[in-house]
Amino acid sequence: MFMKDKYDVVIIGSGVAGLYAALQFDEDVDVLVVSKRELPLSNSSLAQGGVAAVLDKNNDNYKLHIADTLIAGKFKNNLSAVEKLVSEGPADVMKLNSLGVEFDTEKSGELSKTLEAGHSRHRIVHHKDSTGKAIVDKLIESVQQKSNVDMLDYALVYEINKVENGFWLGILKDGELNQVGAEFVLIATGGIGRIYKYTTNSAIATGDGIALAHMLGAEIRHLSRIQFHPTAFAAENERERFLISEAVRGEGAVYLNCKGERFAFKYDERGELAPRDVVSNAVIRESIATGSEDFYLDITAKDPEFIKSRFPMIYSRCLEEGIDMTKDRIPVFPCQHYLMGGINVDINARTNIDGLYAAGECTHTGVHGANRLASNSLLEALVYSRTAAEHMIYKLHTDGRKPLGPAPKPDSAEGEALPTGIRTKIREIMQDTYFVLPKPEKYQKSFEEVDAIVNNLITGNYAITADFVEARSIAIVAGIILDELREGINL
Ligand SMILES: Cc1cc2nc3c(=O)[nH]c(=O)nc-3n(C[C@H](O)[C@H](O)[C@H](O)COP(=O)(O)OP(=O)(O)OC[C@H]3O[C@@H](n4cnc5c(N)ncnc54)[C@H](O)[C@@H]3O)c2cc1C
Repeated sequence: MFMKDKYDVVIIGSGVAGLYAALQFDEDVDVLVVSKRELPLSNSSLAQGGVAAVLDKNNDNYKLHIADTLIAGKFKNNLSAVEKLVSEGPADVMKLNSLGVEFDTEKSGELSKTLEAGHSRHRIVHHKDSTGKAIVDKLIESVQQKSNVDMLDYALVYEINKVENGFWLGILKDGELNQVGAEFVLIATGGIGRIYKYTTNSAIATGDGIALAHMLGAEIRHLSRIQFHPTAFAAENERERFLISEAVRGEGAVYLNCKGERFAFKYDERGELAPRDVVSNAVIRESIATGSEDFYLDITAKDPEFIKSRFPMIYSRCLEEGIDMTKDRIPVFPCQHYLMGGINVDINARTNIDGLYAAGECTHTGVHGANRLASNSLLEALVYSRTAAEHMIYKLHTDGRKPLGPAPKPDSAEGEALPTGIRTKIREIMQDTYFVLPKPEKYQKSFEEVDAIVNNLITGNYAITADFVEARSIAIVAGIILDELREGINL
């Protein structure tokens, strides 16, 4: 089943971070990419708006992009990490272009750039409103052509053991527990949306990589810095709510309350185009003021043909829900969307554990500060995953290959079945304790409840299944967030 039992590098995750890292290695480096579900299922594939990058030096510059990023991040960003993101990112975006990612272009042939909330310039390159899928599909195609990279889907990493000169990973595939060795490991496992009842995130976003890194002793930082998006489609009873991209407001949509009135300017002079956290806050406060959760986006003033060609995916998803956005207002409400904190890494994407790297949404590089600027996350995934790969290549060339320590005793597949309802319980606690407007009076009790669940999962004798591993990840991640909140860190 596994082509080899040892690799130079194992990459956990086939989102933009994992795939772009895999692409960097030459023939002389053996790489394994593992992905717990089908390869394209990820937050990356869901990205709509695009990638932010300074590509038009006549109308934009690095200083402006850096300033926008710092303002959105409330100046809690790591400046060197932001400078690296902004100055190196354009070359990575052009690399995608040269791989064949079809970013939209103007009649003149130059890349078309749109505006999103918090950006002072038009700098978001995009492929209609399905940029992430366009990038992921092309990256998968490119990685599959590399003879030194093996890719395994439906392969779930459930543990990482540190040994001399590397790691042994426990991987669940087709119901069997396997061990694979690696000198270097890159965690690129994405976000944590599934700890919430309502999220825009993909089903894979259970925070596995953060939980695995935490169990290994890696530093986790600012996990309670969570971004709530102000405009997810308000579908009843759907856990994964589809996103109505910021670009819809960028192109002129207005946000209306239950009385059909614009309200965003009451809370911030930037109105609907204020950063996400500001708009989400405004919506919740307006919801309390009006006593209603009914809110709408209205873009009907725009030409219907423009709407259909600029937002084909959102248009057809809305139609599936019975809403024609060229004529109807779209029902929306805030939703969990993105994680700014994560596994702490340095400017080379290294964790505090020798040989362990992390990139993408599961990390804390410090680029986002307290709040991510729209379309900076795909850019971060590109820049820091490439950096991680470059650093591993540098280490392999300078230090040479060293013998890997022996594998630990294999795990037993035997164990008790996981009780039902654990994930639901945690989601209810998180939704009730910390959703847009935090409720400090609930922190301590919620933490104690989740902590008891974590202890039970870690000390119990449960069979290692995907359900168990994801429930354990959700519990560990929720526990760290609530612990930060009750300790007063971050907010
Ligand atoms: C609806 C939506 C719209 C967005 N729009 C934009 C946008 O326009 N611009 C922008 O910059 N950002 C956007 N984002 C954010 C951005 O898409 C993500 O932050 C980014 O793509 C994350 O990439 P990643 O590679 O870190 O993780 P992901 O793309 O989520 O990939 C994670 C990978 O890890 C694998 N994995 C997880 N756990 C395990 C395990 N235990 N074992 C094996 N594999 C595992 C998964 O299967 C998956 O392959 C959006 C996000 C969402 C949800």
